[in-house]
Amino acid sequence: MNSEEEEGSGKIIVSIDRKSLECAVCFTIPPASVLQCRNGHIYCPDCYKRLKICGLCREPMAAKGIRSLAVEELVGSIPAGCPNTDCDFEGNAQALRDHRKTCGLRQVPCPDWQCPRSVCKARLLAHLRLEHLNVGEEISDGRVVRSYPVSDELELEQPDLSWSDSALKLVHFGGLQFLPQLVKIEGTYYTWLCALASADVADRFSAGITVYGATEEDLRVAHVDLARQDVLMNSKTVLSFGNMCAKIALNLSSAGESEIVRSQPRPRIPGYIQIMYHIKCKE
Ligand SMILES: [Zn+2]
Ligand SMILES: [Zn+2]
Ligand SMILES: [Zn+2]
Ligand SMILES: [Zn+2]
Repeated sequence: MNSEEEEGSGKIIVSIDRKSLECAVCFTIPPASVLQCRNGHIYCPDCYKRLKICGLCREPMAAKGIRSLAVEELVGSIPAGCPNTDCDFEGNAQALRDHRKTCGLRQVPCPDWQCPRSVCKARLLAHLRLEHLNVGEEISDGRVVRSYPVSDELELEQPDLSWSDSALKLVHFGGLQFLPQLVKIEGTYYTWLCALASADVADRFSAGITVYGATEEDLRVAHVDLARQDVLMNSKTVLSFGNMCAKIALNLSSAGESEIVRSQPRPRIPGYIQIMYHIKCKE
């Protein structure tokens, strides 16, 4: 190891063999926390968890990992480049972690439920316009109604349904694009609003969603980095409802209507599940 002292700064500039910072099992430089065995051999947290004895000195591992703060500091100061194609950002571990959350060149899943592709974030809007012919509409008061067509009662009995084309349309509001969606999976309908933005930006908005007989206020707005399964698992983001609610919305059933008819005004268009989305700016 070579070193020189930076005058008056309290810092030492060192040049060190990168091998001495690598995890003894997977040979990567640990991303954040660095753990060690009783004799100081270095491990990343994932490998440490799997080991009962140190792979190098055979000493039993401490149940609770021993952190190596000095190595963590060294690792954190190594500049590294953003792995996203064409991005030339470079920074230390913390700066890189922050950058990757919002890197314009990161891959995100296309928010259109029927599209399996991942798209570069910077090209997402173009992708929706070109591949899904989705140009969207401007709304001024944050309220928009989407009509999801259902051909007949037989279709409504299918366990899985999803909608595309005219039912899927972007909404422009507050300088952002939002995509309302409805899917039916294993008999349950899920509807939510996705902002074409990172989590921080999406968090500045909330959504009220109303389908006949079911209303949810102050739902969280989904964001582009959320995997689809994570959207459905999150009751703070989705409004879910059953077939009965859909049938009432379609005028196919009046069950339970007497209790809710006063709170939900007509009209309902036969053949469409109509859902109202109300986007609200938090600040
Ligand atoms: Zn490892
Ligand atoms: Zn060891
Ligand atoms: Zn980047
Ligand atoms: Zn797509």
